[in-house]
Amino acid sequence: MKVAVFSSKSYDRQFLDAANRAAGHELIYYDVKLDASTATLAGDAQGVCVFVNDVLDRETLTILHRQGVKLIALRCTGFNNVDLQAAAELGLTVVRVTAYSPYSVAEHAIGLILTLSRKYHRAYNRVREGNFSLEGLLGFDLHARTVGIIGTGKIGMVFAEILQGFGCRLLGYDVYPNDRFPQLKNARYVTLDELYAQSDIISLHCPLLPETYHLIDQRALDKMKPGVILINVSRGALIDTRAMIDGLKSGKIGALGLDVYEEEENLFFQDLSMQIIQDDLFQRLLTFPNVIVTGHQAFFTQEALTEIAATTIANLSDFEAGRPCPHEIRYTPRAA
Ligand code: NAD
Repeated sequence: MKVAVFSSKSYDRQFLDAANRAAGHELIYYDVKLDASTATLAGDAQGVCVFVNDVLDRETLTILHRQGVKLIALRCTGFNNVDLQAAAELGLTVVRVTAYSPYSVAEHAIGLILTLSRKYHRAYNRVREGNFSLEGLLGFDLHARTVGIIGTGKIGMVFAEILQGFGCRLLGYDVYPNDRFPQLKNARYVTLDELYAQSDIISLHCPLLPETYHLIDQRALDKMKPGVILINVSRGALIDTRAMIDGLKSGKIGALGLDVYEEEENLFFQDLSMQIIQDDLFQRLLTFPNVIVTGHQAFFTQEALTEIAATTIANLSDFEAGRPCPHEIRYTPRAA
């Protein structure tokens, strides 16, 4: 089938083309992001393939539907950028990549923690400038620290398993607890308030939903330990950036590691190094020595891209053949 692939980068083409060799779908690549202003580029394609920052609101979906698009294929797990209710009303099928290497994201979260706890980002620059002083680089052991994990699904569980190796105490919170988490060494489920009160490090691994929007706000911060380390590799809007900046200024937050940012769609996945970045909140974040930001790269491993491409192509083939697709997202009011 003919599919317009939006927000495509060289690596998307490389991995999708390799996965598509046997299937033979006609993939038309566009660098631009999909939104209402670019939707007509889909032309006569039956499907669009999109990523995390493409905007699939009612307006965009209506334009796509009018042009004859039948399938929205997300090449990511999260689907907070799709108006599922509008898609259902327009009769559009929405599929995603339900799972791919959870190790990619979990390992990146560990990398952010170690960078912040041992100040690798500062050490890297110092050594390159011939500065071998250790002043200001004092870190702390992860061993015996308490780590709070919000969301113990695929990624949260791998993250927890890795932290067992460091000898951490693990506190989990999930609206749908699983049986495996409490079986890990030194792990137990607690209430969200207990997790906030007892954790030295808190890492977010839950989806962005209306009920998790700004989950970490000023009120949540007030319940945390002074000097808490916060890690967000899930979705930017899980945390209130303004509250984070206040918390960093007051010292309430000891360090902040982000792979996602609530206004990232106009920043990430592009080279803006010759431009003046207009987002003052984002720029303020970068001024703190105890903040590290990566540009939504947690998923970016060879294994993950191979699996994302394979599932995406399989989703297209299932839809074209009229087979039930195991990765279809059906609209329910809760998921919207
Ligand atoms: P998953 O569905 O396996 O796990 C999510 C868990 O969160 C589930 O156990 C669910 O019950 C729980 N949850 C839902 N609502 C909750 C709430 N209100 N409070 C606490 N827990 C809640 O998903 P996953 O594959 O582990 O992915 C988790 C998230 O990671 C995704 O939603 C996505 O936003 C993000 N992600 C980021 C990247 C990246 O590159 N940075 C890549 C992939 C996924």
